[in-house]
Amino acid sequence: MAPTAIWRSITTTIASIFKSSSHIKNFTILIILYTFTGLIADTNIQRSFLCRQCGHTVVFANDLTRVASDMSLRQRNDSLLGRKGTLIQLLQNPAGARFEVITSKRAHVTKSTVTVSSDTWFTGFSWRIATCPKCHFHLGWSYEPLFYKGGLADSKDTFYALILDNLLDETYADNLIITPKVYQS
Ligand SMILES: [Zn+2]
Repeated sequence: MAPTAIWRSITTTIASIFKSSSHIKNFTILIILYTFTGLIADTNIQRSFLCRQCGHTVVFANDLTRVASDMSLRQRNDSLLGRKGTLIQLLQNPAGARFEVITSKRAHVTKSTVTVSSDTWFTGFSWRIATCPKCHFHLGWSYEPLFYKGGLADSKDTFYALILDNLLDETYADNLIITPKVYQS
C-alpha cells in the first residue's frame, strides 16, 4: 500500500471512531496514543549512560560493543541500557586497582594528548586516559592500534573502555529526587 493510501485509511478510521460512542472513542484514542508513544520510544530514544559526577551524556546504548580483553580477571554478561548481553570485564592495572569496564565504539569524552603503549589491556592497542569534557572526572580509556596515525580522531579501529562505576544510567538519574551536590550552588 502506498504511504498516501495508508494515511487516507488511518484518517478515515479515526474519523469513523469520532462518530462512534464516547466510551469506544476514549478507549481507542488511548490505544492510539499508547501505540504511538511506544513506537517513538522504541525507534528514536536511546538510553544512555551519564557521567556519575556531573550528568554529562557519555555513551548511548547503540554505541556499546563487545571487545574482550585477554587480561580480564572476570567476564560477565548483563543487561545494560536495555541491551541484553552487554560484556562487563573486570580489569586490574599494574598498581593493583580493579575496574569493571564496558567497551564502546564512541564516547563523548576528552582524550588525553598522551598515548601509552605499555601496560595495555588490549593486545596491539595503545591507550589514552579519557575524562569527562565537563567536569574532568576519570571515565575510562580510549584505545587505538599501535602506530595509529589518526591522532585524537575516532576510526573504525578505535574504541573505548569505560568504568561502569563512574557512569549512571540516565533512567535512574531521571528518578532521582534529591538534587546532586554538583547542581547545588
Ligand atoms: Zn562529568
